[in-house]
Amino acid sequence: MQTVPRDQIQFRFDPALAPVMEISSGDTVRFECQDCYAEQLTEDGMEFGRMDMRRNNPITGPVRVREAAPGDILKVEVLGIELKDHGVMCVRTGKGIYEVEGCHCRKFQIRNDTIRFDNGLDIPTRPMIGVIGTCPAEPETTQVPGEHGGNLDIRELGIGSTVYLPVAVPGANLSMGDIHAIQGGGETAICGMECSGTVTVRVTVLKDRHDIPTPFVVSGKSCYTTAAHESLDTCHVAAARKMHRFLMDQAHLSDAQAAMLLSLCGNLRITQVVNPKKGCMMEFPLEVLERLGAEQ
Ligand code: CA
Ligand code: CA
Repeated sequence: MQTVPRDQIQFRFDPALAPVMEISSGDTVRFECQDCYAEQLTEDGMEFGRMDMRRNNPITGPVRVREAAPGDILKVEVLGIELKDHGVMCVRTGKGIYEVEGCHCRKFQIRNDTIRFDNGLDIPTRPMIGVIGTCPAEPETTQVPGEHGGNLDIRELGIGSTVYLPVAVPGANLSMGDIHAIQGGGETAICGMECSGTVTVRVTVLKDRHDIPTPFVVSGKSCYTTAAHESLDTCHVAAARKMHRFLMDQAHLSDAQAAMLLSLCGNLRITQVVNPKKGCMMEFPLEVLERLGAEQ
């Protein structure tokens, strides 16, 4: 199995960046990822000003997939996420949705899949990938979520999940980073438990699948359509309408039937409210999709 080493980082998705590795469709590959502060937060209580925030949100890659051509879809199965032995967080005035005084940089130990929080509180880890994307046709920072994936911060994007991403450039140029040992819905204080670690994925190119509304996530017993926008009002409608269209196309429901079913079994949710574009998703049970005879 090939491994993309932890020093192969970028700070943007950019078609001008040369791939650091080439794989074939169906290959399994490991990405060694640095945490979102590029591992600059080395001590609990450290001063925020000691970090260079131009190095925020590094992504490991890009990895070229030989068979991938524009118009294809890249299926990325998350087989494993190994975390380092600590996680870090920075909470500060003006970031996130809370009124917090000052700037607080913290480092927490992780042992036996458990985060040792303050006051003796142990929190079981739930590892996930914050940033994962194919390269868009135009350069994009690693701060923004979008149609290419990017800074999605979807807590369901953990071990055993699958994400479907569009291919905009030859080779797809897949990159990822911003691992969280755990993240709550909304990522409301601006960060999850930011963690370095290694992600193992199997990458498959799907030809002629124009029916998957990317970025599309399958995790646990549900599938999710996703959308990103500066306004939550616009974002949640976009995420829900993607699932509406998907049900009409895949399960051959009428517009009214699909709307009714989503109003009964769908679960409209916020992914994060702290990135330059906010994220929403519409969750739908896989079991209902199967009973409708939809293709997957
Ligand atoms: Ca993030
Ligand atoms: Ca993060």
